[in-house]
Amino acid sequence: MKVLIADDTNTDRLLLKLHLAKLGCQVIEAKNGQEAVSQYSAHLNEIDLILIDVQMPKLNGFEAVKAIREVQQQNKQEWFPVIFLSASANEKDVEDGIMAGGDDYLIKPISQKVLAAKMHAMKRISDMRSRLVESNKMLESLASTDYLTGIANRRFFEVSLERVFDALTNEGDTCFACGILDLDKFKDINDSFGHDIGDKVLIDVASLVQEHIAENDLFGRLGGEEFGLVLVSESREGLIQRFETIQKRIEDYQFVYTGQLIEVTASIGVVAVSDECKTRNQLLKRADKLLYQAKTSGRNQVCYDI
Ligand SMILES: [Mg+2]
Repeated sequence: MKVLIADDTNTDRLLLKLHLAKLGCQVIEAKNGQEAVSQYSAHLNEIDLILIDVQMPKLNGFEAVKAIREVQQQNKQEWFPVIFLSASANEKDVEDGIMAGGDDYLIKPISQKVLAAKMHAMKRISDMRSRLVESNKMLESLASTDYLTGIANRRFFEVSLERVFDALTNEGDTCFACGILDLDKFKDINDSFGHDIGDKVLIDVASLVQEHIAENDLFGRLGGEEFGLVLVSESREGLIQRFETIQKRIEDYQFVYTGQLIEVTASIGVVAVSDECKTRNQLLKRADKLLYQAKTSGRNQVCYDI
C-alpha cells in the first residue's frame, strides 16, 4: 500500500514512517496540510490511504482533507480512506474529522498494535478499491471496443467523431476528412470460405489499416465489413494520398488462410466538413453516398468530396 502521511512534528512523522515501513507500506511524507494537498495531487492515482495529523500549520488536517476530497472528486478518483491522528480525544473533533472527509480517528500516541490492525482493515478497503477501479476500466473499454478486431466500436467512433472534428476545426489550417471504408463483395468471402475466414479477413484488415493510423486520427468498426476513419493531413493532397494508400494497401496485401489466397479490396467514401455538411449525421450520410458511388463505379477505389 502507498500511504501519504502528514504531520508537522518530525519525530511523530518519523515514528509513523518506521511503523508503516515494517508493515510493508510505501510512504510519501508531508510536513503540513498544504504539502499534503500538493503531495496528493502529485500522486493522484497511487495513494491508497492518508494518515494525517489534525493540528498542523498552514492548513490543519481537517482543511487539508476537505481540499483533498475536492481534488479527488474533480479528478473522478474512487474513494480512499483517510485516518486522522490527534492528541485530542475531544468528541467534537472526532465528529468534525468524519464530516471533513475522514474515515477514522486515532488518538496519539498511537500504539503499534492498533496501527497494524487499522492498516490491515484499510488494506481490505484499498484492495476493494483497486478491484473497483480495474472493473470500471474494463467496463469502459468493453463499451468502446469492437469485440472482434479490438479497435473502436461504432458507438465510440460516432461519439468521438464530432469531438475530433470540433478539435481539428479549431486547429485552423489542418486538413481532415471522414471516410467510410467497406470491403468489396465481402458476402462472397463469407459464402465461399466460411465465417471463420471472414472474421480473419476483418481482423487483418483492421490491423493493416491501423498501421496507417496516427495519433490524431480516428478508426473504428461500424459493423459488419464497414469501418469508419477520420484522417488528418497538412494538405488536401496529403489527405487524398493517405486514403489512397490505405485502399492500395488492402488491395496489395496477400490474404492467405489455410493455403488459400483470398482477393480482398475495399471501397471508400470520403467527405470533409462544409457549410452544408458538418454534423455527425450529415458527414456519415454523405460519406455513405460517396461510398455507394465508389461501389457503383467499379469498387476498389476512393470517392471524395473534399
Ligand atoms: Mg501537529
